[in-house]
Amino acid sequence: MSSPASPARVWAIVPAAGRGARFGATAGTPKQYVAFAGRSVLEWSLRALLAEPRIAGLVVAIAAGDERWPALAAALDDPRLDAAIGGAERQDSVESGLAHLAGRAAPQDWVLVHDAARPCLSRADLAALIDVLGDQPPGALLAAPVVDTVKRERDGVVADTVDRTALWRALTPQVFRYAELAAALADARASGVLVTDEAQAMERLGVRARLVKGSPLNVKITRVEDLELATGIMKAMGVASMRIGQGFDVHTFGDGDHVVLGGVRIPYTRGVVAHSDGDVVIHALCDAVLGALGQGDIGQHFPDTDPRYRGADSRVFLREVAARMRAAGMTLVNADVTVLAEAPRIARHRAAMAANLGADLGVCADVINIKATTTERMGFVGRGEGLAASAAVLLDAAPAGAA
Ligand code: MG
Repeated sequence: MSSPASPARVWAIVPAAGRGARFGATAGTPKQYVAFAGRSVLEWSLRALLAEPRIAGLVVAIAAGDERWPALAAALDDPRLDAAIGGAERQDSVESGLAHLAGRAAPQDWVLVHDAARPCLSRADLAALIDVLGDQPPGALLAAPVVDTVKRERDGVVADTVDRTALWRALTPQVFRYAELAAALADARASGVLVTDEAQAMERLGVRARLVKGSPLNVKITRVEDLELATGIMKAMGVASMRIGQGFDVHTFGDGDHVVLGGVRIPYTRGVVAHSDGDVVIHALCDAVLGALGQGDIGQHFPDTDPRYRGADSRVFLREVAARMRAAGMTLVNADVTVLAEAPRIARHRAAMAANLGADLGVCADVINIKATTTERMGFVGRGEGLAASAAVLLDAAPAGAA
């Protein structure tokens, strides 16, 4: 039992069990797991909270059987992070989060509830909200003044203009005392009232939460076009960043009459020793893109011990890697590939190679530069024992429509 004198701690609950809203090219993906600018909506929202050291613990209320959660939890790797099984409604999920905190949170501790679908919460707004708790208000929430003129409609036409001077849009986080929030939600439930935010449950009991002016950029993702907006906001906040990656691959020459580079079959007096078609250009490029995504390397995704990949067309690998890039909400800005070989000469195949690579990656061929060099007869390349390729790529957040 904590003594009354001990300072109230701040806990966070994120209801993320919603299964209803699904959109985007990844149809069937719950809204909170749709990605933009390299991360899912939920991951951005959780990172915004975890960046605040005054949050003692964070419970994410997930759907039962959420198969995406374990990987996200592992990626976030924060000991303050915990999951509970939420419910169909936001209120169910918040209550399950509160139940999960029972025993850890004291009655006077603060519980901050944040929408899973508000990924653009700034550190400054979160800090300002927590700062206000030092004044011991009955509760507080981020909110933005209504700036548009608001009309009331009746039968499809304007009935009147609503005085907007006292109107605010409720954002999240919203923060209340643990025991009071639990009691307010229980009371709403007992009365058969389904609240749309925590402040509403508190209002019913006469609690007057403080409005803390927050940025209107703290948008809620409800439609596919909101992802476009959020991408721009993240860039403007300097949060969403470009990603670079590099890759390198080598294959030994062996028996054969051709090599495959950039998906182009080039006649030669030798072939390459490889499990797949031994396309060093595509293998290096796949590794560069996977590296930029932080998703390991080509060997992890397409192991050369897998019989499915014997003699495989490496363009299949590149298309799969491109799908991973799109699923992360990223697109290729440009790629620069260097082939290291004494022979064969590739100059007249460069345009065809770039066309293949561009098609597989879903970008114009002219953002893919392919060049070649010998190694002045030095080393394994110089002795004609094999050939190699290196690739560098730059990725950026994709427009939402492209995902
Ligand atoms: Mg290889």
